[in-house]
Amino acid sequence: MRKQFVAGNWKMNKTVHEAYDLAIELITGLRAVRETEVALCPPFVALTAVKSAIANTMIRLGAQNMHDQDRGAFTGEISPVMLAGLADYVILGHSERRQHFGESDAFINRKVLAALRHGLRPILCIGETLEQNERGETEAVLAQQLHAALTGVAAEDATNVVIAYEPVWAIGTGRAATADDAQQRCAFVRAQLRDLFGALAEEMRIQYGGSVTPANAPEILRQPDVDGALVGGASLKADDFIAIVRAAKGNL
Ligand code: PEP
Repeated sequence: MRKQFVAGNWKMNKTVHEAYDLAIELITGLRAVRETEVALCPPFVALTAVKSAIANTMIRLGAQNMHDQDRGAFTGEISPVMLAGLADYVILGHSERRQHFGESDAFINRKVLAALRHGLRPILCIGETLEQNERGETEAVLAQQLHAALTGVAAEDATNVVIAYEPVWAIGTGRAATADDAQQRCAFVRAQLRDLFGALAEEMRIQYGGSVTPANAPEILRQPDVDGALVGGASLKADDFIAIVRAAKGNL
């Protein structure tokens, strides 16, 4: 049985103080939740504050990005060495990184390998654009992004990787995939993972992400191949995020 996993991607929102306060609010609301793993992914500058807020709770900490190199002349970047021991997870390959910062599959692959080398668990985001979806290319895009990003990942690391299926057209648009579509795409991703890692694919977690709200979460999270959610906008409001976590399998 895969442990359901809901992560909040706070993106470029919240000052250090606001991030700390939101984490404290979430701890209270999530105290009774045992069946679902929860991670908060604040901006880099708030990682330490949120870490102190969630100390002695079951809540995990995630970063939103990192460089693939351990150190060096990369002004403005954060390395896996800096995150190791601080964060548990790191979001990699988010469509906003691909789109606004030109991140390639090869770069994302190097980041995935670097994260695993340093004991960080990647939340690897993959997803098709609206144009690709309308051209019927969704499965080809998912397979290509997945295989490229996971090249060289050893079988013993497979279950440390979380996949987030995030259709680009659903991110921040208020237009989530239907529960049926989310299920179909996540099942397709699992079939690809089976090609790569065999039976370990049954243990790997696949999240859905894209305009998840308290209203659509129960149906999406009920799907057999959807093992949780990566939540953007709704993770910034404590009540909404708590409601989404509570909608995950096993909590209702
Ligand atoms: C995201 O950024 O990963 C995301 C899913 O955002 P939203 O929930 O706002 O669509």
